[in-house]
Amino acid sequence: MPPQPDDCLFCMLVRDGDHVHRADGFVAINDINPLAPVHVLVLPERHVDTFRDVSEFDADEAKRMLEFVAETARVVGLEDYRVVVNVGPGGGQTVFHLHWHILGGQTLTERNL
Ligand code: AMP
Ligand code: ZN
Repeated sequence: MPPQPDDCLFCMLVRDGDHVHRADGFVAINDINPLAPVHVLVLPERHVDTFRDVSEFDADEAKRMLEFVAETARVVGLEDYRVVVNVGPGGGQTVFHLHWHILGGQTLTERNL
């Protein structure tokens, strides 16, 4: 694995966090501040700053990342859900390690992100 940024919270959680699902270079953790009854974050194990840098993934890895998002939703028991990626400060991104929010467990409104 290439060197990880020492000061990245999500790199630390990849190493030491409680994972609700892990496979194939990706992990899922519960969001510490859930905005819905189920609020899970999916992260690549390797550090990529933002979705803007998605071209750092090759086609196979990008496909597996999307499949892992869908698989995680199934693992946590969701059939209907919302997937959100905040990109950059203006998009609401506060942690600069790419992550996908999965929200569900209730009928979602605009208040759930
Ligand atoms: P974003 O604002 O899109 O960058 O999302 C960052 C998310 O990380 C927020 O929903 C936070 O609640 C969540 N978060 C921050 N610190 C932690 C942590 N230690 N464990 C789990 N989730 C966290
Ligand atoms: Zn990181």
